[in-house]
Amino acid sequence: MLVLHDKATLLHHTVEVVSFKLIKALECPERVEVIVKALENDAAHSVQVLDTTDRDNELTTERLLDKILLQTHDTDYLTHLRTIHENCVSSAMVGEDESVLPECFNVPALTFGNRSSKPPKDLYARTGYYAFDMSTGICKETWTSAVASAGLALEAARLLVQTDASQEQPRRNVLALCRPPGHHCTTKMAGGYCYLNNSVVAVQALRHFRLQATSTPSEPSSLKVAILDLDFHHGNGTQFAFYQDPSVLYVSIHGQDEYPYYSGHEDEIGDGPGTGFNLNLPLAVKAPLEEYLAKLKIATQRIRDFQPQYLVVSLGFDTFHLDPLGNFGVDASGYEAIARTVRESDGLHDIPAAILLEGGYVVEHLGPNMLSFLKGWEQV
Ligand SMILES: [Zn+2]
Repeated sequence: MLVLHDKATLLHHTVEVVSFKLIKALECPERVEVIVKALENDAAHSVQVLDTTDRDNELTTERLLDKILLQTHDTDYLTHLRTIHENCVSSAMVGEDESVLPECFNVPALTFGNRSSKPPKDLYARTGYYAFDMSTGICKETWTSAVASAGLALEAARLLVQTDASQEQPRRNVLALCRPPGHHCTTKMAGGYCYLNNSVVAVQALRHFRLQATSTPSEPSSLKVAILDLDFHHGNGTQFAFYQDPSVLYVSIHGQDEYPYYSGHEDEIGDGPGTGFNLNLPLAVKAPLEEYLAKLKIATQRIRDFQPQYLVVSLGFDTFHLDPLGNFGVDASGYEAIARTVRESDGLHDIPAAILLEGGYVVEHLGPNMLSFLKGWEQV
């Protein structure tokens, strides 16, 4: 298993409103630091550190990542993420070290008739236009970290296609230590600690590299990719991105009636040509591991039937039994069982997989939980 890490992902640090209180965000740099340390102390793994800190952060279409971000998100949303903190600092609305937080949200019920809402001129108001909750504060380094995180997803996709094309055996699996996570943000709204949707970036990047690698030109959308979302929370942003797309199967196991509250229901099965290519498997909070694994078997059977060429795993450790924001009855050894269940499923073992880090907020348990997951994944 190749592990990708970028130190620029550690720069983002912000505050959030949780349970009516303003606190240091639970999604913090230490989450990735402890995972990197655990992997480096484990003889079985090596961490490849990508250094993109000096990357030109200008939003140009010349760079591949910029091109893919423009396929993933609205241009004005990307510009907002990149510039809002600096604009608020120069208007003396926040200090250099403070975060910009949304205040007034773009609720459809506030717009009359067929008038489409526009970004407000007022900077205080504009932060709410591009967010759907108060967990996505923007600090000076947020854009740099979010781009680095998306860059890891892109690099994972590149490596998978490269080794796939050269027919190296066994096919590579790549773990990208993405931070901030990605599966909640939509094309034009941050939310749930997510700013850029890393799994959507991975799919777009797989399409791009695959198109480059194959000699016969084909439609990029003909590539079949399955996304298995194992975070405790439903990946509303990822579901939204591919809801009408039959070439991407999205499967999620998540806490029933939990954040993000308005999506993740069983009857959300896709739309138009995408009907039947979205599978939500909600599970009661605190459900034991056996019930989780039963859902996982349904998920893997659906993926096997879909016969994807690539698998993207949105891996969250907020399914852990002590997590403050999630919890199923999963302890450290449970992650080995979860990974093993995925890999032992008929037809899934040989599919190249990009595993992208999503949530998980009990910092001291993230290292052991990741090692347990990788043990189960690699021993099959
Ligand atoms: Zn989560």
